[in-house]
Amino acid sequence: MSKAYDNYNVFAKILKGEIPCQKIDENKFSLAFTDINPQAPIHILVIPKNPYIDFYDFTKNAPSEEIKFFWELVNDIISKKNISEKGFRIITNSGKDGNQDVPHFHVHILGGRNLGKMIS
Ligand code: 5GP
Repeated sequence: MSKAYDNYNVFAKILKGEIPCQKIDENKFSLAFTDINPQAPIHILVIPKNPYIDFYDFTKNAPSEEIKFFWELVNDIISKKNISEKGFRIITNSGKDGNQDVPHFHVHILGGRNLGKMIS
């Protein structure tokens, strides 16, 4: 049986306007905002506006238009923050082994300094 989406997770609340976020940008299907606990000078989260639990759920079940809009917003952030040349890291945590805390699909865009090697 597949997992059920938790309508009360913190990103669902942000999308409903129940808690604030520092919005960076948005498009028809996606929202980008600053991480509340930044791990680098640039730490932005990009989330779909519709409810998907994780990367697998999003990639398997979202219409291709939503997937396209999602990655377009990621790229818009990279342009807006001027990090395409210096570099950045995109992370998505999934499930227990991935230590995903918020069960609404999101990617972390990290940059603004050398981020070191991949996994500590
Ligand atoms: P995960 O471990 O699920 O990949 O990461 C969840 C991220 O969401 C964490 O980096 C955490 O700092 C961030 N986060 C948790 N609650 C909030 C919140 O209320 N507002 C914002 N902007 N970020 C949050």
